[in-house]
Amino acid sequence: MNWYQLDVKDVEKKLHVTVNRGLTDKQVEKRQKQYGVNALEAQKKVPKWLIFLKQFQDFMVLILLAATLVAGLLGEYIDAIAIMVIVLVNGFIGFFQEQKAEKSLDKLKELSAPMAYVLRNKKWERIPSKDVVVGDVVRITSGDRIPADIRIVKSDSLETEESALTGESLPVMKHAAAIHRDHLDAQDQINMGFMSTLVTRGSGIGIVVGTGMQTVMGQIASLMANTKKVMTPLERKLAELGKILIVVALLLTALVVVLGVVQGQPLYTMFLAGVSLAVAAIPEGLPAIVTVALSLGVQRMIRKKAIVRKLSAVETLGCASVICSDKTGTMTQNKMTVKEVFINGKHLYVTGDGYELNGDYFLDKQKVDHRYSNLESMLLYGMLCNHASIVVKKGKHAIEGNPTDGALLIAARKFGLTIVNAEPYKIIKEFPFDSVRKRMSVVVEDVNQRRFLITKGAPEILLPRSTYVMDEQGRQLLKANQQKMIEQAINSMAEKALRTLAIAIKPLTKQDDLQSSILEKDLTFIGVYGMIDPPRKEVKGAIKECRSAGIKTVMITGDHAKTARAIAINLDLMPEDGQVLEGSQINNMSQQELEDVIENIYVFARVTPEHKLRIVHAFQEQGHVVAMTGDGVNDAPAIKASNIGVSMGISGTDVTKEASSLILMDDNFATIKAAIEEGRTIYENIRKFIRYLLASNVGEILVMLFAMLLSLPLPLVPVQILWVNLVTDGLPAMALGMDKAEGEVMKKRPRSLKEGVFSRGLGYKIISRGIVIGIVTLVAFMVTYQANPDHLAYARTVAFTTLVLAQLIHVFDCRSEQSIFSRNPFENMYLVLAVLSSLFLLLIVVYWQPLQPVFHTVSLSLRDWMLIFGLGALPTVLFGFTKK
Ligand code: ATP
Repeated sequence: MNWYQLDVKDVEKKLHVTVNRGLTDKQVEKRQKQYGVNALEAQKKVPKWLIFLKQFQDFMVLILLAATLVAGLLGEYIDAIAIMVIVLVNGFIGFFQEQKAEKSLDKLKELSAPMAYVLRNKKWERIPSKDVVVGDVVRITSGDRIPADIRIVKSDSLETEESALTGESLPVMKHAAAIHRDHLDAQDQINMGFMSTLVTRGSGIGIVVGTGMQTVMGQIASLMANTKKVMTPLERKLAELGKILIVVALLLTALVVVLGVVQGQPLYTMFLAGVSLAVAAIPEGLPAIVTVALSLGVQRMIRKKAIVRKLSAVETLGCASVICSDKTGTMTQNKMTVKEVFINGKHLYVTGDGYELNGDYFLDKQKVDHRYSNLESMLLYGMLCNHASIVVKKGKHAIEGNPTDGALLIAARKFGLTIVNAEPYKIIKEFPFDSVRKRMSVVVEDVNQRRFLITKGAPEILLPRSTYVMDEQGRQLLKANQQKMIEQAINSMAEKALRTLAIAIKPLTKQDDLQSSILEKDLTFIGVYGMIDPPRKEVKGAIKECRSAGIKTVMITGDHAKTARAIAINLDLMPEDGQVLEGSQINNMSQQELEDVIENIYVFARVTPEHKLRIVHAFQEQGHVVAMTGDGVNDAPAIKASNIGVSMGISGTDVTKEASSLILMDDNFATIKAAIEEGRTIYENIRKFIRYLLASNVGEILVMLFAMLLSLPLPLVPVQILWVNLVTDGLPAMALGMDKAEGEVMKKRPRSLKEGVFSRGLGYKIISRGIVIGIVTLVAFMVTYQANPDHLAYARTVAFTTLVLAQLIHVFDCRSEQSIFSRNPFENMYLVLAVLSSLFLLLIVVYWQPLQPVFHTVSLSLRDWMLIFGLGALPTVLFGFTKK
């Protein structure tokens, strides 16, 4: 169907919908069944059995399996089966971990899925884009990804960027008229909007004509090429480190095997022991556990209303040293109330709080009414040049749409103006607001078909465009002294933390060309609104906490410098003499000059998104790790360039969300702080289990190596080695990943992005603990063996239990950078439970008779346990005292 050739009326008829009403629930239900979900077919999922098999693809595991098979063929059935079972259980654990990580990532995807604004049953509602059906009436505004293929029925300066589809990156102007030509390519169908393309300017309404795979995008198969999983820096580092550790572990294992053989141990026994040791000691699972820890952290962040889009952000968050945050809505409530109006050269004060509809206008304590010149017109203009509506939610008045616009509606209502007053006027054209233009205009026609332009926007933008001013005597030429007086009025409002917005008009004739650049000049200045937007309560505390965590908070706003300064001081974001830099000043600076001063700046005011990019770069050049927030379409480049791009869950556009690595579900600055805190904790926990796992592995290798060097028999048999690996590495390591932070994470300085995994003494801790664990295990073995030279299984059982116990005690040591004594071991009940369950499993393999031949164990006496416990606790207690 060539929808572009049809008139809107025909499209409506064909799809059984009207633009003013939208679809009914029944129609939606039927069409959902008929067309399915509106999504490009998801990539083929890797089947579960393949993920399971992948757990065994590791080279050493394959060798182990082969060696076990040989052992089985040679008649060592029990050993062979035991090893197989252990390897299988290990595989299952890996599989479940991977599934868990996958699930939490899927949940994340769902949470950050794009939304669409649709008209159904005459009501606009926000729904997940995947639920959009053919015939839906959708509204799109700049920053949106178009949710489906639509036929445009209304365009307000609508422009889209379709490079994903056509390769053309220049924006395309869209309009609603039918095009009566045949065989047009997508790029020439300028009354159509295509799924997944981007709205770069303006806004519009369209009727959905194709969804999911029936869209133009759906037909381009190449776009659905599998996206590869990207490793986080830490995962990459660990994967690289893993390669080195593999070589080291293999060399040491080979040494153990050679020494054993030289001393007359059978080659086959040594080979199996060597391979088992290699499997146990090679930390091949480390990157996977890191992924699990990161995704568990991600879930905790969701509970704190932060959605992480890229796992790498979890790590980077802990390094953030500067947060550049928007003011409106992020630091403030975005709940605007007009408190003052400057008109006819005088300040009027408005009573009433929040979105209450009751309130009055006062001039010098005298109530003013509609006889007060120009006020009623100004308030009416504010209503006409507006995109919001007043609604009732849960019995209270609320604003739907832009809060700045909403405040103007409430202000008008306080003066008795309602929608009825606006009805005689028709909006002919609109020039939408954006943060670069800092203004919005509409062309209005009254009942006598007289046209005029209403412009509202930042006063400093409107004043230079005004030639006239309205006062009690009517329209006057704007003189220099009047201009000065208006500027002073604006400053005095801004100093009181009021957000200022001016209104101006211009009479038009029917012949006037409706181009914004020509229209928005020679205006008649009417007046200025001053509105408050109270700070969010939690922000002041969050800024303070960030400061003590070595993180500087910087406010970036499109608002007036004085307004921004007043709010920043109120929030304790900057000292009274702190510096504010304005966008216009940045324009006059070279990048180097900006870098030179940037450390002293707390507030950037009247900036455009382009400045944001320069600010990010300047901070980065000073060695900072920058978190940058944004909501509008133009913020995407700065968000991308920053180290942690932060977008807004409620007010953010699709484009910024896609560019960001963190989404704030509640748009709240305090949530960034919470995410940083969580990010720091997760990183510390990852360090904890790296330390635990590697120290354990060092201990395991060393006990074997020392024994061979001392010409002793093998202190552990292959199943024992594999069992240690399985039981001590599994649950306790995971439980460390869920540990609480040690001390107050937000009292420390941010970590350097370049910091290596083993820095801050971690490498030393791993080696020193590993060596002592190896030694005590060997001592346990030697003491028992020397006393009972004929009872090797007994000595091995003692060595085995000592090794396990030493690791299970050492795991508590890993919770602290200082010493085991500095933390309460019962703080982390997961860990206590994990350790208890590992101990329980240990007792089973030692005492349960059917398992004794499998694990080559014998029952132990209380005296043995005293030795085992004493030696097992030694490494941890020793380092607990040395505190190093
Ligand atoms: P932040 O970047 O902290 O969110 P902001 O919301 O104040 O700051 P913008 O939305 O870019 O920044 O607004 C900048 C200025 O544009 C405002 O101070 C105001 O004067 C003007 N303005 C804001 N909203 C509108 C609107 N809907 N119509 C016309 N002008 C507006």
